[in-house]
Amino acid sequence: MAEKTTQTKAEPQVCDLCGCASYEVFSTHGRWGAPLTTVICRDCGLVYSNPRPTAEENAAFYKQNYWERYKGEKEPDEKFFRRRIPKIKSMLAELKPNLKPGMNLLEVGSGVGALLSSIKDTCNGVGRFIGIEPFATHARFCRDRKSLDVRAGLLEEIATQLDPGSFDVAVMNHVLEHTMSPTSVFETIRALLKTDGTFVVEVPNIAAPGSRLSHFFHVGHHYNFSARTLQRLAMKTGFEIVCIEELDGDLPKTRLFGMFTKCDDPKHDVAERFVRDDPNERAKALRRYESWYWATFASIRKKFTHWKRQRGW
Ligand SMILES: [Zn+2]
Repeated sequence: MAEKTTQTKAEPQVCDLCGCASYEVFSTHGRWGAPLTTVICRDCGLVYSNPRPTAEENAAFYKQNYWERYKGEKEPDEKFFRRRIPKIKSMLAELKPNLKPGMNLLEVGSGVGALLSSIKDTCNGVGRFIGIEPFATHARFCRDRKSLDVRAGLLEEIATQLDPGSFDVAVMNHVLEHTMSPTSVFETIRALLKTDGTFVVEVPNIAAPGSRLSHFFHVGHHYNFSARTLQRLAMKTGFEIVCIEELDGDLPKTRLFGMFTKCDDPKHDVAERFVRDDPNERAKALRRYESWYWATFASIRKKFTHWKRQRGW
C-alpha cells in the first residue's frame, strides 16, 4: 500500500536529545519513495526526521489516518487482535518479572490492547491497567471488546487525567519513535511513576535497521535510536539504566529494549557518563548495513523468520 503522506513545510527543528541545531542530511526519501529528510545530529549522533510534522499535523495523523493509511486496517476485529499477539510476546516475556497482581501499570500506544490484555491476564486481572491510544476506534475496541481502561488521546492530553507518582510500571512498545519529543515523553512518564517506578521501552534499533534503509525511514517514525542515544535520553531525564539490550527480531539485533528506573534527579551533566554516538561512524555504519542487507539476501531471511514467528515456531 502506497503512503500518501507528503512531508510537511514545518520549520526545521533542533535535536531533541542534545539541543544542537547542526546536522548532516543522510537521506531525502523514505518508505515508498515518499519525500522524507533523515538527518544525523552532528553533536550526539541522534538520527531523526527534519523537518517533521507540526504538533497539530502529528496529532491528526495518529488520531485519524495512521492505522488505515500506514497499516491498511480500519475497523479492528478479533482476527486482527489475534494477529497482534505474536508481536507482543517478547515484550510480555521481558516484562514478566515486573508484573504482580495489585500493581498500577500504564501503557502508552495500546493499539487494540494485545499487550495490555496479556499483562492484565498475567496479573489475574488484579490491579490498575491503563492504556492510552490516539486512534479512537482502537481505544473503543479495547474498552468494548476487551474490557480494558484505554483512553483515546495522546500522552500529553491524557497525562493530566492521571495521578502523578501513581504508577509502578510504564511501557511503550514501538511507540517512542512516533512521538514529537522523546525528551518530554520521558519527563512526563517520570512524573507519573512512583519513586522506584520502572519505565520499559522498545524501539527499532538504528544500529540494525531490519530492512533496507529506503523502507526503514518513513513518516511515522520521527526518531531512530541507537543504544547510546537511548541511554543518553534516559540519563538526562532522570532515570537509572537497568539494561539496554539489542534483541533479535526478524533479523539479528533489530529491536532495542531498554529498562529504566526513576532516580532522584535528572542528570543534565551527563556528557561524561555516556559514550557519544559519533555521527560520522553512525552514517558509515548505516551505509555498511545497506550493503550487508543486499549481499546477504536479508529480505528473504526476514520473510522466513517472520513466517515462523506468526506460526509460533
Ligand atoms: Zn543531538
